[in-house]
Amino acid sequence: MKSRTKVVVIGGGIAGCSTLYHLTQEGWSDVVLVERDELTSGTTWHSAAQVTNFGMTQTMVGLKSHSIALYKKLRDDPEYPVGYHHGDGGIRLANTEEQMQGYRHFASMARGMGVEFEVIDAEECARRHPLISTDNLLGGLWDGEDGDVDPAQLCQALAFHARKAGAEVYRSTAVTELTQHKDDTWTVYTQHGDIDCDIVVNAGGYRVNEIGAMMGVQHPVASMEHQYFVTEDIPAITEAGHRMPLLRCPISDYYCRQEKDGLLVGFYEQDCKTWGMDGINPGFSNDLCPDDLDRVMDVLEGAFERMPVLAEVGIKRVVNGPITYTIDGAPLVGPIPGKRNAYCIIGLRAGLGEGGGHGWLLAQQIVHGEACFDTWVIDPRRFTGHATVELTSRKAIEDYQNEFRFHFPHEHRPAGRNAKTTPLTPILAAEGAEFTVVNGWERVDYIKPSPDFHPSLSFDFDEVFDVVAAEVANVASNVGLAEVNGFNRIEITGKDRHAFLDRMMCGTVNKRDGRLGLGYLLNHHGCVKAEATVANLPASDRGPDRVWYGSAAASEYHDMDWLRAHLDPSEDVQLRSLTNDHTILVLAGPKARAVLSDCARGDWSAEAFPWLSARECCIGFAPAVVMGVSFSGELAYEIHVPNASLYASYLALREAGQAHGLKLFGARAIDSMRMEKGFLHWKTDLITEFDPLETGLSRFVELDKPDFIGKAALLKRQAAGPQSKLVTLKIGTNHAPAHPGASLMQGNTVVGTITSGDYGHRVGMNLAYAFVKPDFADVGSTLQLDLCGKHIAAQIIEPSPYDPRFERMRA
Ligand SMILES: Cc1cc2nc3c(=O)[nH]c(=O)nc-3n(C[C@H](O)[C@H](O)[C@H](O)COP(=O)(O)OP(=O)(O)OC[C@H]3O[C@@H](n4cnc5c(N)ncnc54)[C@H](O)[C@@H]3O)c2cc1C
Repeated sequence: MKSRTKVVVIGGGIAGCSTLYHLTQEGWSDVVLVERDELTSGTTWHSAAQVTNFGMTQTMVGLKSHSIALYKKLRDDPEYPVGYHHGDGGIRLANTEEQMQGYRHFASMARGMGVEFEVIDAEECARRHPLISTDNLLGGLWDGEDGDVDPAQLCQALAFHARKAGAEVYRSTAVTELTQHKDDTWTVYTQHGDIDCDIVVNAGGYRVNEIGAMMGVQHPVASMEHQYFVTEDIPAITEAGHRMPLLRCPISDYYCRQEKDGLLVGFYEQDCKTWGMDGINPGFSNDLCPDDLDRVMDVLEGAFERMPVLAEVGIKRVVNGPITYTIDGAPLVGPIPGKRNAYCIIGLRAGLGEGGGHGWLLAQQIVHGEACFDTWVIDPRRFTGHATVELTSRKAIEDYQNEFRFHFPHEHRPAGRNAKTTPLTPILAAEGAEFTVVNGWERVDYIKPSPDFHPSLSFDFDEVFDVVAAEVANVASNVGLAEVNGFNRIEITGKDRHAFLDRMMCGTVNKRDGRLGLGYLLNHHGCVKAEATVANLPASDRGPDRVWYGSAAASEYHDMDWLRAHLDPSEDVQLRSLTNDHTILVLAGPKARAVLSDCARGDWSAEAFPWLSARECCIGFAPAVVMGVSFSGELAYEIHVPNASLYASYLALREAGQAHGLKLFGARAIDSMRMEKGFLHWKTDLITEFDPLETGLSRFVELDKPDFIGKAALLKRQAAGPQSKLVTLKIGTNHAPAHPGASLMQGNTVVGTITSGDYGHRVGMNLAYAFVKPDFADVGSTLQLDLCGKHIAAQIIEPSPYDPRFERMRA
């Protein structure tokens, strides 16, 4: 066994084997995999191992297609062939129009990744799958590339090719302890000796938190028991003359694929069970949980009704094994929050279908610092302080119960709610607020017109449309108040704080006391990593000279890790998170100044406190920092308040607002208004796949600065010319927004992808942003948006259609 290597991957299931293989593909051969038993002895050996292209986002589709391409290559490799039924085809069933509409959207989105799905009717479903009945069936989504792989052969083949490229695999070698040294390298202790290494990767499957505990981390991953059975041979299958397509059913939550000449049927029952919450027997390896088919009777009935032939055959084998879940169903693949040189590839609930792709994207991140796709949807840092294993287990149960029921736009399910709240949450609830969830925070989405207001789940504009219109109208003509909680706030102190930020940000950093500016941080590839406001607060009784670095709520761990990783020990810079201590109250509208003046001492005139100013003050008697910034395009103030005095500030603002028509507004109104202003959202419009020039942010880039992170790469990209351009679109329909991921077409060719879409009530336009190939990105040209299967005109317009000269927010 080696005593020193570059990377130690812990765990020899699909996650670990794929990571090891892809590390060698990316050019690192001094890498090892350590497995406590035999390869695949965790969950992988008994997986149903279905492999599909279907995913909810382009990143998921892209990584799944990578799995398929890889498995095909391995199947055809004469040296170590893998059993892979590729191309049996698969159908996701639907019995409501809303599900069919969703499938049409997912087909539009997948087309942009080069994947063609078909939306077919019930008769066509039955023609392609002769064993199903069409009762209570509208149709389905067809993936022609669906199939299943032999999980053990797949892992052995990946390990074989990795070994051939120089990697080593140590079986029957449990990792017992991990130590990180001052220089951020690690020692991995195993029962057969210690290995020093630069980087560790946790690929421990359901034992993820045993390995996490060795490095002082609790990962938000919980396991569920999951069962399938395999039937005796079915004559109708032999007679059909072709393999049966796979089925996935959101009506009764089961799946089914052919296994030899019978069927394998797996269940996601309502009466489901977590597993291993109180620890896992060390001897549980190559093992299963006891069968319990009684538990799955509810879904079994649905499967029998759809495939009556199931009632006629015997069951040959039952498999019940642990399967890992996270808070949102997607795995955690990437850097471990708060740690250096530590990565994970965990929480895989569809690890055979996705594992090839996850290992690929993780290896790219480890070797190159970033992957070819923006990986935020699988980034471990997307969950923060609320993400306990207890919360995860509740979301896991909910997710399991809804396995094949995709989330509709704006749908937030009830489990694990109120994870992060402020003193205002119950107050706003009593005012009629409906909440959305942002990084665990309950944030007001809109104010319900009546207590029994329950909008439908749909890909069309829903009943909230008119509610948002009214909230926007009041902000535009009077003044509105919104709570924006969880906004990421990092206090940066020390005399080198501006030099540090100058290095981190690609534009000019405003250094003047009492002033603030917006800026962007790039990665080493010259692409957009983060967005932040930088506000300079002079020394006062509340603290020393300091910068408040503000960014999206979800970026809390991401931005802190990025800033910390680039601290230079010779610099005097300290970072402190205020995210959980402060909340923003946004006051927006032409009468915002009047309200502020009525409840906060001082001169708030445009001359004394112009746009992009920051000042300490009191709202009523409660301490606050006011910043003159606007995401709505109206005159607006962000009022940053410590949570302890949030209620007092709120009462003072409400009281002052009475005379000026102040009403509450929520995130849906904010989103509509920011689209009218050309303002972008981190991780929807601002992603690592594009540089700031492509993203339309040239005015925030200062290439004359001596240096900043990503500058050399950005110059190279600039010389090569843009690959894509962010544009604003006017969509030629008012019945539905353009959904993120939807394809923009020119004839039959995909030329762009939507990032955001919403209706602009002040300009009366259905608006969207999209990245479009430069040849098609001219203002005035018209593309075709594939909006849930319908082709709709999408005209490229100038950005910021509302108040393009930005006069209202500077008023
Ligand atoms: C019944 C069932 C059906 C499924 N069907 C499908 C399907 O159709 N399609 C699909 O894509 N997915 C399916 N899945 C899920 C899929 O099987 C898993 O997502 C996948 O196998 C997880 O792989 P993994 O590598 O993350 O974990 P594992 O396979 O559990 O591998 C983790 C490895 O880490 C090792 N390890 C743990 N601790 C240590 C330590 N301290 N030191 C060294 N090694 C350690 C373990 O021994 C184990 O080998 C199914 C799962 C179940 C239970």
